[in-house]
Amino acid sequence: MMSNNQTTAVSPHALPALPYADDALSPVISANTIGFHYGKHHKTYVDNLNKLIAGTEYADLPLAKIITATAGAADKTAIFNNAAQTWNHTFYWQSLRPNGGGEPPAGLKQKIEASFGTVDACRKELATAAMAQFGSGWTWLVLDGDKLKVVKTGNADVPLTAGKKPLLTIDVWEHAYYLDYQNRRLDYVNAVLDKLINWNFAAENLG
Ligand code: MN
Repeated sequence: MMSNNQTTAVSPHALPALPYADDALSPVISANTIGFHYGKHHKTYVDNLNKLIAGTEYADLPLAKIITATAGAADKTAIFNNAAQTWNHTFYWQSLRPNGGGEPPAGLKQKIEASFGTVDACRKELATAAMAQFGSGWTWLVLDGDKLKVVKTGNADVPLTAGKKPLLTIDVWEHAYYLDYQNRRLDYVNAVLDKLINWNFAAENLG
């Protein structure tokens, strides 16, 4: 089972099972994309992380601890990047589900309306942030204090390191959409928001 907050110390780190079949998100995200994205990209981050931390002070730390301990350290960039990308991808797979989209659960919906006005305004802000991220990165719905916010991060960066609690994420690296959408990032993001976004997961993270 995949742990939502990935706080359990496990060494070596394992590639968590996908929470659905590799064709379950099709046609929004094809099995071909999942094959490369999960089977190659995500797996490589996990494998690289295990190689980099073997025999170091990080070997027995939970993933989230490795991320916060190496964030911003110039000589620990490779460990940070691979740890954060391991965490981010596991979080991303959980942020999607077959037959997702639609209305968030009541508690989350209320919180979204308090922070953004409407669910549609929140979705639009997520799409705008996804388009505004120059190059590789991530778009997030986070809890910041008692408000929900949309933030974007570049490359492997994760809002955990800024004290924000991630509720859901959309991967906007080209490898997330290029096989299915080529350069049309907005089409990918809108399709994810309409058909796959897992509001239930965000509600669980909100607590
Ligand atoms: Mn990715």
